[in-house]
Amino acid sequence: MTVLHYDYIIIGAGAAGLMLVDAMGKDSFFKDKSILILDKDTKTTNDRTWCFWEKGEGQFDAIVDKTWNHVYFAGKKFAKRFNINPYTYKMIRGIDFYNSVLDRIKNHPGIIFKQAEVTDVLDDGTQVTVKTAEENYTGRNVFNSLFSYDMTRHQTTYPVLQQHFIGWFVKTSKPVFDTDQATYMDFSIPQKGNTRFMYVLPTSENEALIEYTLFSEHLLPKAEYEKAIKDYLANNLDCPDYEIMDTEMGSIPMTAYDFKEHHSKNMRYIGTAGGWAKPSTGYTFRSTAKKTPKLIAHIKSGKPLDTLSYKTKFWFYDLLFLDVLYKDNAKGYNVFETLFKNRKPQQVFKFLDEDTNFAEDIGNMMGSPIIPFIKALFRRIF
Ligand SMILES: Cc1cc2nc3c(=O)[nH]c(=O)nc-3n(C[C@H](O)[C@H](O)[C@H](O)COP(=O)(O)OP(=O)(O)OC[C@H]3O[C@@H](n4cnc5c(N)ncnc54)[C@H](O)[C@@H]3O)c2cc1C
Repeated sequence: MTVLHYDYIIIGAGAAGLMLVDAMGKDSFFKDKSILILDKDTKTTNDRTWCFWEKGEGQFDAIVDKTWNHVYFAGKKFAKRFNINPYTYKMIRGIDFYNSVLDRIKNHPGIIFKQAEVTDVLDDGTQVTVKTAEENYTGRNVFNSLFSYDMTRHQTTYPVLQQHFIGWFVKTSKPVFDTDQATYMDFSIPQKGNTRFMYVLPTSENEALIEYTLFSEHLLPKAEYEKAIKDYLANNLDCPDYEIMDTEMGSIPMTAYDFKEHHSKNMRYIGTAGGWAKPSTGYTFRSTAKKTPKLIAHIKSGKPLDTLSYKTKFWFYDLLFLDVLYKDNAKGYNVFETLFKNRKPQQVFKFLDEDTNFAEDIGNMMGSPIIPFIKALFRRIF
């Protein structure tokens, strides 16, 4: 079997792999380097939509499909439509992102995108061998975005919840959606002992992506997500007449577990597999965009790949939040409801973006139900 050597190998051409290869392609440091990016998929289907909030213009604006200036939050006793200025909530279709990056890198002489399923990755301490059915590749700088829950399940120090969901793109028979408002979280639906909410992204008055989402430990049978979406359309939106245009589903890990033990000096896990999903929210796309430049700077420094740490004080806040959510999953709605009642979404977004100072952090904590957090803090200390 042929063995080919590359300066850099990226496993997985998803959000993290493509952002990394794109950043390499734009940086003259990598001009004469050989870079291989592998994916089992052709990346020619629209397998997901990414949303995130952002202040003003951003690096992905050319491929943003829809923006909203308002978000709607509903709890059990409180509901409000918020203007989120200076933020906007933005949506990108997966396929547009894949096409834009793959188009850019195809003209780069050093970068090769190859469709191949990785069957094994062997790290002998000096170099990493990446195996596929047809060829094997070796490299001293390998970036791996293949995530599995097994990476987190050998430990119990950090609970592992999932943000799991099924979404339907629906076309309704009558206009029911507010096109300038994304329903960020609607907890007015039955909680059934978990943290369950609806997420609605309208693209026109009669088209939207509606996702039934849980922050909980275990997945549900598919029919349960689907029934919840049907009920929401009929009861909450008063629109039993609709067509399902497309569907999506996902499970994003929510854990403060630090993935660092999986890295080595020659191989670094990135994206979800690198712990880049924000533990308390599951938002990964913008977190990946923010982490990529730091990784590029680290690669250029020539330091071992496992010595880069992204840990900040926000890791500890996420840890306490997940402890609270794990201990009493049925009360999750109350944490969000209290927060959105007491704090402006701008303050919440800034905090979740990890841009707040300590005084602002305290403000957000005081705006949450403080007792469960204090209990969680004591449990962690003692
Ligand atoms: C449906 C869905 C919607 C989401 N929406 C949002 C959102 O709105 N906002 C947000 O911030 N986050 C969102 N996320 C979470 C997160 O942003 C995405 O999961 C994101 O794609 C993670 O990037 P990644 O590179 O870690 O993984 P992926 O993008 O999943 O990339 C991994 C890649 O590895 C490839 N692969 C897998 N196995 C192999 C193998 N054996 N050999 C070769 N290649 C392989 C896959 O084909 C894939 O291309 C969503 C996730 C899903 C699933």
